[in-house]
Parts: sequence; structure tokens; C-alpha cells
Amino acid sequence: MAQPKQSVLIVDDDPVQGQLIRNVCNRIGYTAVFAASYESAAAALTTHRFSHVTIDLALGERDGIELIRLITSLPQIPRVIVISGCEQRILNAAVRLAHAAGACDAVSIPKPIELSALRQALMVLPCDCRGARSAKQRKPDVITTDDLCAGFANGEIFAMFQPKILLSTGRLVGCEALARWDSPKFGMVSPDRFIPLVEQAGLIKPVTLLMLREAIALIQDLLPTVPDFSAAVNFSATLLADPTIPEDVESILVENSVSGRSMMIEITETTAMSDVAKAMDTLLRLRIKGFGISMDDFGTGYSSMSVLAQMPFCELKIDRTFIKDCLVDQDLWKVVTSAVAIARAYNMKAVAEGIEDLETLWALEAIGCHIGQGYAISKALPRSEFKQWSASWERRLRDGLLQMPKRKQA
Ligand code: C2E
Ligand code: CA
Ligand code: CA
Repeated sequence: MAQPKQSVLIVDDDPVQGQLIRNVCNRIGYTAVFAASYESAAAALTTHRFSHVTIDLALGERDGIELIRLITSLPQIPRVIVISGCEQRILNAAVRLAHAAGACDAVSIPKPIELSALRQALMVLPCDCRGARSAKQRKPDVITTDDLCAGFANGEIFAMFQPKILLSTGRLVGCEALARWDSPKFGMVSPDRFIPLVEQAGLIKPVTLLMLREAIALIQDLLPTVPDFSAAVNFSATLLADPTIPEDVESILVENSVSGRSMMIEITETTAMSDVAKAMDTLLRLRIKGFGISMDDFGTGYSSMSVLAQMPFCELKIDRTFIKDCLVDQDLWKVVTSAVAIARAYNMKAVAEGIEDLETLWALEAIGCHIGQGYAISKALPRSEFKQWSASWERRLRDGLLQMPKRKQA
């Protein structure tokens, strides 16, 4: 069957550039419509469905950013190709904005346009953003708090553990307990989806204490071979507001003869900063009992430096959204290096989560980031597999498989 011809909307207030782009489109067999302003582009978008849109960021009175907003509100989002003579960081920011708004495959091309780059960008068909969107928008199977309560009572909620390593040596130093719900009715439900239900059902305390007990069991498995191993558990805002929580946590540790030093509590930046007085009270009491406290998702909230200085955090955990593309996006790299510097200045450990490749791991080590976590090291593992993973990781370390290539030669 013949493929439908792709059609491109070229939005540029410079007719010469417009013609150049049109020529490339025609050469690869695409039809092209030219719009010299926001208004004519908007009109074309109401009457025609385009597979690609090339957008010049500076469009006279109304700019390309407004157009990106309009395009990402369409039911079927075309592939956005941002073209501009602005500096690269503006191009990067525009692409990030397009991604965040739903144009998940948006790219940028600097002016003067390199024709091979343009051709390459046009040859890639739009990913099914609409499909992804409609899947997101499709009414999900409704899970009620009763389903959640029944699942919890049936033991369907449990912890998986993602390793954390010391970047300077590669050695295992701890893990994060991540909640999982394996439901026979709904399948594997993501914690982003079921933790809010746990909160609504009033089960956040029993669920967190379950994570804590499972983390303690893992600590007991690991301490003989990894004496400084610590396990982290995520605490929500509701829990932080519960004045009995420090004693409850302490008594479970005492019951199991595990020291508070082996336990880390992760609190998101937003939680810590939303009610500073309340958070400070609970966090201080937890610290006094010897627990480590980690500020999670650092960079996504609004930390005040003076509050940060007063709060008893031991760790700053840089959010994975900054780590993911930090080697290809200079702005993200600046956020990451600043966060590492802040952590160091306040005598906290800098932790990077979401490290997906060894190059990122090495780069983070080089700027003095202390601890790393992410798929490059391991995904979250069931407790039964953790010890075995730890032994195979040790072997890889000994064989030098994780060292920077340059160091290997040295
Ligand atoms: P979080 O605390 O930021 O946890 C890290 C999330 O990043 C986890 O997602 C983890 O699987 C994922 N991740 C780890 N490494 C990588 C990587 O290299 N690349 C990418 N793309 N992702 C990575 P998960 O397990 O789906 O958890 C999502 C969120 O659910 C957690 O974010 C946390 O906020 C919440 N959560 C999980 N367990 C609990 C819990 O027991 N209590 C509470 N209150 N919240 C929990
Ligand atoms: Ca966390
Ligand atoms: Ca995070």
C-alpha cells in the first residue's frame, strides 16, 4: 500500500529561508505549506493536518514559543523542528519546553541551516505522541481505595531495592526501598499511581512501616559483607506531620537490633520546604535518634538556602530529570554541578539518581558527586536477588569493567 505523503508546515518570517526549507521538503517528496506569521500558521493548522512543522523562533510580533503551545494543544502533534539563529541555550530551552508540552520528539536546528541536518530531521516521522497522549488520557482502570486496602491486606504491596554506590570506588554503600504493588486485577501498578491512593486510604503509615521492615531485613542480609550499608525509605508529607513517627521507627529498629545509622529517610524537597517548622521538628528528632535524612528530588522544589543550612540533611539527592541529559545539555550540567557544590558546601553527600550510562557516572564522579543510583548500576531488585547482584557487582569492579577507559590504561 502506498504511504501517505508527508506534509510540512514551514513557519518563518524570512521567505528566503522558507524557500530553502521548501526545496529540501520537495526533494524528499514531501508537500510543504509556507506561513510567514503566527496567524497564518494558526490558520493553516486549523484546516490541515501536518506531519512536521518547522518553526523559526523569532516571528515578529508573536514568537515561535506561542506557536509551540498552539501545536501541542492539537489532538495529533506533528514533529516540531525548531530553527533559529538564537544562541544554542535558547534553542535547547525551546526544545525542552516543547517536550514538556507533549511534542516528545521535538528537535532543534541552528541557523545557518545545515541542509543534511534538516533533511535528517524531516526524514524521521513523528512518533505517536497522540497515541501516547490518548493512552495517558484514556480513562485508566479505576482503582478504588477498597481495591488498594484489599491488595495491602493480601500482601500484594512489597519493596524492591535499588543499589546506591560510592562513585569514587564503585563500592556498594546502600539502597533505596521502592514500593511495588503486584495486583492480580490491575497488574503491576506504579508507585506514582498507588501511593496517592495509599494516602487517601489512610494507609501511608502501615505501608511505610512495611517498607521499613523489609529494608531492615535487607540490611541484616548485607551488613556482614557490607558493614557501612544503609537502606533508604521514602517518607511522605503526611508521615512527617505525625508526631509519633520518630518513636515508631526507632522501636522497629531496636526490635531488630539494627542501628539508626543503617537507615536513611528520604523526604522530597517540596515536602521539607512546605511546612518548615513541622518538618524541622520531626527531622531533628529523627536525626537525634541517629537516622540519616536525605533531601529527595533536589532541584524540583524551591529551597531557600537559609532554610537548607538549618535543616539537618545528610544527603542532597539530585533529581533524575537533571541527571538524564546532563552530558548533552549544558544548562542541566550547570544545575548538576551547582547542586554538587551546594551539597559539599553544607557538608552533605551529593547523590545523583537516574544515572543511565557509565559516561554520566564518570562525569559525576569527576565533579565530586559522592553517591550514584540508576539503571547504569542496577534497576530495583527483589530482596532475594540483592546479595547475588552485590557479589557480581564486586566481580565487575575487580575486573576493572567499570573504570574510566583512561584510568584503565594508566
Ligand atoms: P523517587 O523517590 O524519585 O524514586 C526514584 C524513581 O526513579 C524510582 O521510580 C526508580 O525506579 C526510578 N529510577 C531509578 N533509576 C532510574 C534511571 O536510571 N532512569 C530512570 N528513568 N528512572 C530511574 P519508581 O520506583 O517508579 O518510584 C516513583 C516514585 O514513587 C518515587 O520517586 C517516590 O517518590 C515514590 N515512592 C516509591 N516508593 C515509595 C514509598 O514507599 N513511599 C512513598 N511515600 N513514596 C514512594
Ligand atoms: Ca526517593
Ligand atoms: Ca527523585
